[in-house]
Amino acid sequence: MARTKAPPNMFTLSEDQIAIRDMARDFANEQIAPYAVEWDEKKHFPVEQLRAAAALGMGGIYVKEDVGGSGLTRLDAALIFEQLATGCPGTSAYLSIHNMSTWMIDRFGDDAQRRKWVPRLASMEHFASYCLTEPGAGSDAAALKTKAVRNGDHYIVDGQKQFISGAGSSDIYVVMVRTGGDGPKGISTLVIEAGAPGLSFGANERKMGWNVQPTRTVTFEGVRVPVENRLGEEGEGFRIAMAGLDGGRLNIGACSLGGAQAALEKALSYMRERKAFGKRLDEFQALQFRLADMATELECARTFLWRAASALDAKAPDATQLCAMAKRIATDRGFEVANDALQMHGGYGYLADYGIEKIVRDLRVHQILEGTNEIMRLIVARALIAQGN
Ligand SMILES: Cc1cc2nc3c(=O)[nH]c(=O)nc-3n(C[C@H](O)[C@H](O)[C@H](O)COP(=O)(O)OP(=O)(O)OC[C@H]3O[C@@H](n4cnc5c(N)ncnc54)[C@H](O)[C@@H]3O)c2cc1C
Repeated sequence: MARTKAPPNMFTLSEDQIAIRDMARDFANEQIAPYAVEWDEKKHFPVEQLRAAAALGMGGIYVKEDVGGSGLTRLDAALIFEQLATGCPGTSAYLSIHNMSTWMIDRFGDDAQRRKWVPRLASMEHFASYCLTEPGAGSDAAALKTKAVRNGDHYIVDGQKQFISGAGSSDIYVVMVRTGGDGPKGISTLVIEAGAPGLSFGANERKMGWNVQPTRTVTFEGVRVPVENRLGEEGEGFRIAMAGLDGGRLNIGACSLGGAQAALEKALSYMRERKAFGKRLDEFQALQFRLADMATELECARTFLWRAASALDAKAPDATQLCAMAKRIATDRGFEVANDALQMHGGYGYLADYGIEKIVRDLRVHQILEGTNEIMRLIVARALIAQGN
């Protein structure tokens, strides 16, 4: 009998993947972790370190090599974002949004567009933002109202985007706009460059976490955008936006795993040192059981995220559902593990110097953005019900 080709073993990383993972962890240990608490306090956006990450190939991880990308897989990207997030989830998460936006141009742009924008994004000479959410359209993104009206070889764009990561600092904005009627089919995607007349930004939002990256509103008032800046055809913008989010959700899930892993490691070393009732904390069985549960939950989430990443790499028909499931599990479990690690530090966990409370604050938003975890359930449930009909 002919031997069938062995399926890729998702439970064992290849030598190359181990090298990629270790490179990202070393980078996080040396260039991110020592500064993360200070960056958070000062609301410092670490542009220099992001460019250093790009110099190692992390600016366009799953972008094609002919335009400066690294040509790696979604699973490789998940390994990288998890490791970077052990240093700072907020920094890793911005890089994930930059990668998502850059990939959208690489994947849906024509040759001229790819060559014009992607090389400087992959090197992070330029930074990118993803602009979908509006003040009146969050979970129901297809209700967006930012209008792009065709005028000769330009669109005139008017409207506002809300909660845009990197806004004001980014050079390239991948913007979902309405060029047609109501609903998803009336949406198109435009690339809008910083400095365009009529493009302006709100104040940096004061927020619970993710203080290492700016979040601002983006306002368009009569912004003239060349038609040649449109990705794909008119009406394809919602599909493009959702395709970006499949990978974006894996990346955010990976950032939660990394933050939680760092919190777990901090708890372990703290429990070795700290004594109560004449014993080290790690000698109490109740705490040992909790540690075991934390590690188990994290490993389950990680294994599932890798499965979803492999499905996206393989363009599996159920990849969107698997990415939604993975995002929910990884961000929920990640937050819970980080919060448990804070509890194990007692009062010290609440102090900024221990670095735990920042992780908890950073991970909380991963349950909200790139689609809330309620919307992840909606995606899964709709697919189940559709299969049943
Ligand atoms: C720090 C930060 C950074 C962000 N960065 C970006 C970015 O870079 N680009 C971008 O485009 N957006 C970004 N977002 C926006 C984010 O994606 C939205 O906040 C998110 O999608 C939720 O939308 P909303 O806030 O309008 O909540 P709403 O849609 O108003 O939802 C409110 C609540 O109702 C629930 N809900 C809504 N509809 C349903 C339903 N049908 N069934 C069950 N529950 C439902 C939601 O889950 C949520 O709990 C960011 C947000 C934050 C906080």
